[in-house]
Amino acid sequence: LSSRLNGVFDKLRRRGALSEADVNEALREVRIALLEADVALPVARDLINKVRERAVGAEVIRSVSPAQQVIKIVNDALVEALGGGEGIEAPGLDLNAPAPVPILMVGLQGSGKTTTSGKIALRLRTREKKKVLLASLDVQRPAAQLQLQTLANQTGVTSLPIIPGQTPLEIAARAMDTARRELYDVVILDTAGRLSIDDALMDEVAAVKAATRPHQTLLVVDAMTGQDAVNTARNFQDRVGVNGIVMTRVDGDARGGAALSMRAVTGAPIRLLGAGEKLDALEDFHPSRIAGRILGMGDIVSLVERAAETIDRDEAEKLAAKMQKGQFDLEDFASQLKQVGKMGNLSGILGMLPGLGAMKDKIANAKIDDGMIGRQAAIISSMTRKERKNPDIIKASRKKRIATGAGVTVQDVNRLLKQFDDMSAMMKRMNKLGQKGLMRGGLG
Ligand code: GDP
Ligand code: MG
Repeated sequence: LSSRLNGVFDKLRRRGALSEADVNEALREVRIALLEADVALPVARDLINKVRERAVGAEVIRSVSPAQQVIKIVNDALVEALGGGEGIEAPGLDLNAPAPVPILMVGLQGSGKTTTSGKIALRLRTREKKKVLLASLDVQRPAAQLQLQTLANQTGVTSLPIIPGQTPLEIAARAMDTARRELYDVVILDTAGRLSIDDALMDEVAAVKAATRPHQTLLVVDAMTGQDAVNTARNFQDRVGVNGIVMTRVDGDARGGAALSMRAVTGAPIRLLGAGEKLDALEDFHPSRIAGRILGMGDIVSLVERAAETIDRDEAEKLAAKMQKGQFDLEDFASQLKQVGKMGNLSGILGMLPGLGAMKDKIANAKIDDGMIGRQAAIISSMTRKERKNPDIIKASRKKRIATGAGVTVQDVNRLLKQFDDMSAMMKRMNKLGQKGLMRGGLG
């Protein structure tokens, strides 16, 4: 398979830009996929508009169809809308507050609040060695407090003793008191739900929230409720205020579009996923995984990723060849900077250059930030072609002109030239080493 793929990617070159017709055609399909995945209509529409702006005029990658490329752009926008992006990990719970940290669980009846309370308690106790107190404020259903007590026993954490006849507010106050006195790290307050949004429920939850001032107010929503999830989320956000969402029943066959809608209407991150009835069925939320599930076109996305990567690799290999012949000039340096900017880090590109593996760490440690890459690219683009080919001719007056053109100081220009000199010198050394055979094996 891999040789067949390589055959396809060998011929890759960039050409032209995506046309509006290409983009619209692909977006029609995407729209259907989003709606089928239960993304709310206005949310789907917003996303598609954003993608259209981004996609029209984007450089075309040959060997994948324009439609496939648009789908990759949709996928990236989707990941972003779900709170993801390069270098962003799953958000998880935020427990960054003085102990005892109160966590308030809210949501409709049957959404999985009580089960999720138990799951979170288990995770905090075992993974983070936290001392957790579970308290049920659910006085609606007779068995609710017992259900939580049973879960507490199963997870090996303490539950607040049940005192019949207390109101939710009284139980909440007692829970916070107990937690402070007995030095708990976290208190999980599990509230009662209703079958649908009603004023009494919202008032009760809002009062508990005002009294306990939870660090995390987690809205628990069943992924299977699809389109209704948006209304639920909007109501809870408006009337109670939440700063995290737990989506349950992702073990079912819902495609997860509710996650996107809920995130869009509340602005609150999806923090955790419930993936089963068992107490260990709690997962971190990874935006890219859910994006893949919503779009349902994972194969296409990885195809386009490979294609794009191969182009970078082609460029990198050309660059490496020049380096080895000692023909590396400032123009190449600029194209290298561009790639670094695109890939987010220098070690990534160096990893693709044959024979440079050993230097990778050293250069990565030099900490090149985005702003700096932008400035350096600006400096190089303010040079004439002649200057880029022969940096030696850049003396004082030229430096001044270049600095003005790039909106930087002469010192910045000097720094860049110095860096280029260092790099050229290093390459010469590398080449000598290479001739002695030390580069063998680096090419795999
Ligand atoms: P609450 O009314 O919000 O407290 O909901 P419960 O925690 O009592 O859960 C209602 C039902 O949903 C129970 O039978 C749970 O076992 C089940 N449940 C909760 N979370 C999940 C999940 O992530 N996946 C599946 N399949 N079932 C779940
Ligand atoms: Mg419950």
